[in-house]
Amino acid sequence: MSDTLLERILEANSKFVRPGAFPPLPKNPQKQFAIFTCMDTRLVDFLEPAMGISRGDAKVIKNAGNTVIDPNGGVIRSLVAAVFMLGVEEIFVIGHRDCGMADVDIDSLRGRMTARGIEESAIDALVPELGQWIGAFSCPEENVSRVVGIIRDSPLIPRDVPVHGLIFCPNDGHLEVICNGYE
Ligand code: ZN
Repeated sequence: MSDTLLERILEANSKFVRPGAFPPLPKNPQKQFAIFTCMDTRLVDFLEPAMGISRGDAKVIKNAGNTVIDPNGGVIRSLVAAVFMLGVEEIFVIGHRDCGMADVDIDSLRGRMTARGIEESAIDALVPELGQWIGAFSCPEENVSRVVGIIRDSPLIPRDVPVHGLIFCPNDGHLEVICNGYE
C-alpha cells in the first residue's frame, strides 16, 4: 500500500493513463473565453460543468480569492497571453459565496506564519501591508466588481473584449451575474 500523498497520486495516475484514450485537443480554447476564479477546492470539477463547458473549452486562471493586487501582475499577464496569443475573446471573473478570502483575520494570519517559523522581519520587509498583499476582502460581490474594473481599465486589455463578473454558489452551482460585460 502507498503511504505518502505523492505515492497515492502516482498510483492513481498509473491507472489513469491509457494510450489513445484521450484524443489530442487544440491548445486554443474552443469557446474562446477565459475564466478568472478562486482556487477554492469546491470549484474543482464543479464550476466547469455548471457553466456547460469541459476540457478544451476555456482558459482558467485561479488564485486565492480571484483578486488582482498588481494591475500589471500575473493575472493581467495571463489575460494578455490569453487574448493576444491564444484567441480569447471574452473574460469571465467568477467569485463565489463563502470564500475563504473574505474576512481574513490578518493578525491571526501573521501569528500562524510566525508560529511556523516565518521570520517577522521577512514579513515586514517583503509584505509590510500583509492584508492588502494577501488580497483580503469583506464582500465577494464587491471584489468581483473591483476586479472587473481593474481588468476593464487595464491599458493592456483591448476595449472590445467583454469583461463579465459573476458570483458562483459552491454548494448548489448557481451563477449570478454581477457585471454584464456587453453593457
Ligand atoms: Zn474563494
